[in-house]
Amino acid sequence: MNILKKFSVVPALDERFWAKEYSPHLEASFTSNWSERHVAFVCGLGTFGLSKGLITPKGMAGRFGSIITELYLPPQKRGYENVYEYCSMCGSCAKKCPVNAISIENGKDHMICSKFLSKTAEKYKPRLGCGKCQIGVPCESRIPKQRTIK
Ligand code: SF4
Ligand code: SF4
Repeated sequence: MNILKKFSVVPALDERFWAKEYSPHLEASFTSNWSERHVAFVCGLGTFGLSKGLITPKGMAGRFGSIITELYLPPQKRGYENVYEYCSMCGSCAKKCPVNAISIENGKDHMICSKFLSKTAEKYKPRLGCGKCQIGVPCESRIPKQRTIK
């Protein structure tokens, strides 16, 4: 039997993956060489929201993982064109943020959010995270009703 071997890699588990996190000496160093959310956007799973999470038909409150593979998968049409298309800009996430890291005018301030996460991580370890901007909001588990643009 002729079996063609296909190679795959999970980028987040690969030794070449790197992410720079907040450092007091290197402010605004939020970058990595792979982003699950951006890959999900490119693959047609959803668009970004004001809080910078990805809104999918199943909502925002979840996590993504990705696999790069040589396996042929037939392409499907992406259901959106704009990077924020699924966000209604309702501002609910901004109201839920305990440290005002989000605003309709300025989007999300990653530095304020990161500092808060570091503080709470210290206090509640081994638990980590916040995510209040992703629960109890219109995009938590669905694409929210779009705002009427006048
Ligand atoms: S809560 Fe509203 S403004 Fe915030 S990301 Fe969701 S839909 Fe967008
Ligand atoms: S994770 Fe928490 S601190 Fe960060 S933007 Fe969301 S609500 Fe604010």
